[in-house]
Amino acid sequence: MLTLECDVSVAAPPAFGHPIGIDLGLDKFAATSDGALIERPRFLNTLHRKLKLLQRRLRNKNIGSNNRHKLNCKIARLHQRISDTRKDWHFKLAHKLCDGIGMMFVEDIDFRVWAKGMFCKHTLDAGFGQFVSILQWVCWKRGVHFAKVDKDYTSQVCPQCDTHTGRKELKDRVHSCPECGYTTHRDVAAAQVIRNRGISGLGRSLDENACGDGETSAAVLVSRQPGDWRTRRVWRGLVTV
Ligand SMILES: [Zn+2]
Repeated sequence: MLTLECDVSVAAPPAFGHPIGIDLGLDKFAATSDGALIERPRFLNTLHRKLKLLQRRLRNKNIGSNNRHKLNCKIARLHQRISDTRKDWHFKLAHKLCDGIGMMFVEDIDFRVWAKGMFCKHTLDAGFGQFVSILQWVCWKRGVHFAKVDKDYTSQVCPQCDTHTGRKELKDRVHSCPECGYTTHRDVAAAQVIRNRGISGLGRSLDENACGDGETSAAVLVSRQPGDWRTRRVWRGLVTV
């Protein structure tokens, strides 16, 4: 295997095409501004139950014994498997979210603060911090513009008319605006606020962006032929001697 890597600076993908906003949460793992809700993966629960069982067994083993050592190895392998499975799921989800879009916006959240709070175990389990960095990388790889936006009040503002609707309790699952009557799932509403903020951060309005959609995507199709920087940067191949 021969690998060539060139030292070139690769520009971030330009902002064009269909925009989505993504809201991350503990009830649903993620919600997009297009209305898709992504559930938290269930397989992690099963693996965690297994882990708990093994850890309980550890108490009955004598310190320094061979059996304890074997069980510890088993626990370490399970920990590794949990983290691998989660990472794999994050990558697959990130690729799925990148399908058919040109721009992606997420909240600029420091998840280390979340991890110290009330839902600490669940936050760590979901691995939001890792997911956001994977998302950023996959976006770059797929030529999707990625940006973080201000996180304040995303769940309290109406995406249609910008009215502050006040703080929602955890049990309130629906956003319903008293001003314009817009009603949708609360996480979807938050994702739409994030998308709107991302677009206005580019100095455009949502309508302007929608108008430019068709024109720019045609130009992009042309520029994404093989031999593009995304495919050219690293070259691998077998060389027979
Ligand atoms: Zn409204």
